[in-house]
Amino acid sequence: MSGSPHGSPRVGTLQAMSSLDDTDGSDLAGVPDDDPVSFSALGLRAELLAALARLGYEEPTAIQQAAIPPLLEGRDLLGQAATGTGKTAAFALPVLHRLGPCQGSSPARALVLVPTRELAVQVSEAMYKYGRDLGARVVPVYGGQPIGRQLQALARGVDVVVATPGRVLDHIKRGSLSLAEVDTVVLDEADEMLDMGFAEDLEAILDAVPAQRQTMLFSATMPSRLNGIVKRHLTDPVRIQTGKGRQQATDTPRITQRAYVVARAHKPAALGRILDVEAPVATIVFCRTREEVDQLTETMNGRGYRAEALHGGMDQEQRDRVMGRLRAGTAELLVATDVAARGLDIDQLSHVVNYDVPSAPESYVHRIGRVGRAGREGVAITLAEPREQRLLANIERVTGQPISVATVPSVADLRAKRVATTVELVRDALDDDDLDDYDELLELLLDDGEVDRIALAALKLVHLAAAGETDDQEIPEATAWGDRKGRGRGEGARERAESAGRPDAGEVGRVYVSIGFKEGVRPGDLVGAIANSTHLVGSQIGPIKVWEHYSVVGVPERSVDEVVRALKQCIIRGKKASVRRFVEHQR
Ligand code: AMP
Repeated sequence: MSGSPHGSPRVGTLQAMSSLDDTDGSDLAGVPDDDPVSFSALGLRAELLAALARLGYEEPTAIQQAAIPPLLEGRDLLGQAATGTGKTAAFALPVLHRLGPCQGSSPARALVLVPTRELAVQVSEAMYKYGRDLGARVVPVYGGQPIGRQLQALARGVDVVVATPGRVLDHIKRGSLSLAEVDTVVLDEADEMLDMGFAEDLEAILDAVPAQRQTMLFSATMPSRLNGIVKRHLTDPVRIQTGKGRQQATDTPRITQRAYVVARAHKPAALGRILDVEAPVATIVFCRTREEVDQLTETMNGRGYRAEALHGGMDQEQRDRVMGRLRAGTAELLVATDVAARGLDIDQLSHVVNYDVPSAPESYVHRIGRVGRAGREGVAITLAEPREQRLLANIERVTGQPISVATVPSVADLRAKRVATTVELVRDALDDDDLDDYDELLELLLDDGEVDRIALAALKLVHLAAAGETDDQEIPEATAWGDRKGRGRGEGARERAESAGRPDAGEVGRVYVSIGFKEGVRPGDLVGAIANSTHLVGSQIGPIKVWEHYSVVGVPERSVDEVVRALKQCIIRGKKASVRRFVEHQR
């Protein structure tokens, strides 16, 4: 990294994309490397700024800084960004800004296409929250949900439709969704949509939207298969890419970097467990928003840690007080946003925790540079959700330093650590010169029992005082399996593309579906239906054989029952199929 991590500006390092062959770099969007830009400086409407303030977003992420200005101008955009970079707000805010105050029953004006039901719900929730003061009506539309409810929601009037491609086509055919007024289209996770066999559907939808429109395409990878769509449907797009930093973290050699993959719901428990085992002197925990800072501070205090919040909503006096408590050792955990922690210099810090994977590698480098100062050793811990593993791999690439993935300490680890602490405390005391001062106490107790038992009673007290309560709930391991973004870390676009259509690992089970190509079924329909109604991702589904009147789909053996249950509820190509586990002698 150039310069000290402490003094480095908040950076959004963006550069031209090289994997798309028509890149000439002339439209390269960059983020100024100097002072951080605020949301209001980006020119967003007051209603949106109010929503962002409510949500506790203190400043735009790199992709937001780069994408929002050209999008507000109406430019098309091609963005390479993974989940966790803040890409949803990067497109949602300009879409809502351009919609303006919404009223009445106009047909949809913006269409966001996403690969899965889960993402449709997530994106529409985000857009609803950002667009609340504008009165934006956002309707998620996806396969697997009864169509009736969606028909009613669409009939009531809608500004933004967030949809999976197959379901959009169904609605277009039924006449329940008009795209005639759509002037903004977003393709989110475009690579994933192609992996799931939605290429033809996307083409059909894009052809059905008026040509006079703004189109944005976001994708975690930029495989050459995207070239066709980009050439045909985007006009002179601005190209942005996050995460290929110019800065190398070469001055962080004394920092041990570790990540734990944990589901969101288990993060507070996992954090507590990790802190118990690590026993840091003082820790700073970084969160994304003010809300998260306040919530986590409360939760950790409830769990018996002395935590203090620090965010941009606090005045100088409050901040000074918090810092004083940390320096004096009355607080052990500082929970902070990036903005609030900027410029802090705390000698005692031994640990930095990223409660989420930071949205850009530069921000990671900046954060972890808080420890390991002046030649001391420090530990940087990152809690990643399974879907954020791609960001971790990106950070490793940019910093050129490995982040080892560790397992959250188990109850047994914690107990072992507590025993070791007690033994250490007592051993230290055995070396003390003043033990004889306690002889009198021992004499008093000798009438009550043997020396051994007295020692045991004293140990019990020491152990309980040092260890506190034992939390005996195991924290479930969140593996890559079962999460839509959870493919192995460090995977390249090619490996990913090649693995599309077959399970990632483990034994393959097969599912029989009673409709085939005579009913119009294509492999993409089956992948879409399964990915939309189960926790599986495209790359875990396959091989797929579509016969005349039936199909057989490979899925991870342990997910067969879930897939059978889910597909029984799905309408595929307008039909309800009979579905069961496939065994060889069938048909
Ligand atoms: P995404 O990459 O869109 O999946 O966003 C990742 C997470 O970051 C979401 O939980 C957002 O709510 C959050 N987020 C997005 N932009 C910001 C921001 N500027 N400040 C704080 N949090 C943000």
